[in-house]
Amino acid sequence: MKELFRNIPPIHELQKQHSFIQLCKRFDVDKSLMTSIVRTTIDKIRSEIISGEMKGANINSKIWYEAEVILQSKSNFNLMPVINATGTVLHTNLGRARLSREAIDRVVEVASNYSNLEFDIESGKRGSRHDIIEALIKEVTGAEAAMVVNNNAAAVYFILNAFGKGKEVIVSRGQLVEIGGSFRISSIMEESGAKLIEVGTTNKTHLMDYQEAISDETAMLLKVHTSNFKTIGFTQSVSTEQLAGLKGSREDIILYEDLGSGVLYDFTEGGIGEEPLVQKALHAGVDIVSFSGDKLLGGPQAGIIAGKKEYIDKLKKHQLARVLRMDKMSFAALEATLKAYAMNKAKEIPTIRDMLLSVEEISETATLFLHSIEGLEIFEWEITEVESMIGGGTMPGVTLPSIAVKVSTEKLSAQSLAEKLRMGTPSVVVRIQDQHVLLDFRTITQGELDKLVAAFRNVELTYRD
Ligand SMILES: *Cc1c(COP(=O)(O)O)cnc(C)c1O
Repeated sequence: MKELFRNIPPIHELQKQHSFIQLCKRFDVDKSLMTSIVRTTIDKIRSEIISGEMKGANINSKIWYEAEVILQSKSNFNLMPVINATGTVLHTNLGRARLSREAIDRVVEVASNYSNLEFDIESGKRGSRHDIIEALIKEVTGAEAAMVVNNNAAAVYFILNAFGKGKEVIVSRGQLVEIGGSFRISSIMEESGAKLIEVGTTNKTHLMDYQEAISDETAMLLKVHTSNFKTIGFTQSVSTEQLAGLKGSREDIILYEDLGSGVLYDFTEGGIGEEPLVQKALHAGVDIVSFSGDKLLGGPQAGIIAGKKEYIDKLKKHQLARVLRMDKMSFAALEATLKAYAMNKAKEIPTIRDMLLSVEEISETATLFLHSIEGLEIFEWEITEVESMIGGGTMPGVTLPSIAVKVSTEKLSAQSLAEKLRMGTPSVVVRIQDQHVLLDFRTITQGELDKLVAAFRNVELTYRD
């Protein structure tokens, strides 16, 4: 054992070795960090000698091998791009909406410089971050006033807390939804301090049910968009217009609609789904609406609150506004995204673009891919028609006709191929159907094709005879 210990070179000697300098260069680290990494590897080797795991191997090369492993894991990022080959446009696990080029450019611009985030350029005095995009939200939604918080879950909590705490909030039993990630309307209501008054049944709620539940304690009528499920058959719900009519002149009752996904682009024109438009909900007479920034809107994570000025003003002054305030990078991305709507360029937003892709356009990308896989021998490819989902807990039951490439290989089961693609660099997330891997090209851009081909090439390399 002593012999082995003696074989560990002293630090000052290791520092002079070629490998030390090489690794510094390759991983772009300075001498002092490299030295501390080398110390860590020596400690590891020492304990391996003591435990008997390390018996006389070449200690010097082991040090550099271990140092490289540490450097490799240090330089890897945990959050990284993946190729979404599932065809699901708003994949909740894959970061929901992809941002537009403009939105990305704005983030880079604002993040790399000082900005007027809370500075009024005209007066030279302190400004408010609420002023950055309020006018734009008003323009695209038709609301009297607006503000933004971190996400729509925060917006729901905020509104319930600010207006419903210690009072009664009436909700239809058919709308007590659970959104992925354990967000339940009933639980969030409890957290907010508002008292939930359930009315109606799972499948049917009538105007009369609300009417009978209204009391002196009623602070709010809450309508929740059933984003991620659909009730069919013997069903009835009360429209926003009816609720607005019921509220009538009761100034003390707020009519709030949680729209879930914020739809500003009318997908129904293209025959896709039946999501309520933000503009229409406001027009129907609600006092406030809230919706997500990164669902069908196609922007960054955000919770947009729009509606009557008197309520928005109260929210802006509320303590929680500071707690839930959104970051400047998200403001930059959201402003650019909303501008696209204001400039009639919504179709350039990746989420909208991908939803509206025609089968012909998707087929073109799939064909380009098949032209670039020459030389790959272990796979079989076949173009096939599929249906893509929209995802993100939106448009339940709606699918979009799409084109996929079906991949199989004798070397691997569909499950193992999917796993290898997922574990590769870049990671590729696929769909499996009938024992085949499916690449749905709705969510793959032409710019990603080279990387996709490389991913298959890497899998093939490990299976060449
Ligand atoms: C998605 C959704 C939320 C939560 O929105 P996030 O932006 O994900 O926080 C709240 N309510 C409804 C109805 C939703 O669909």
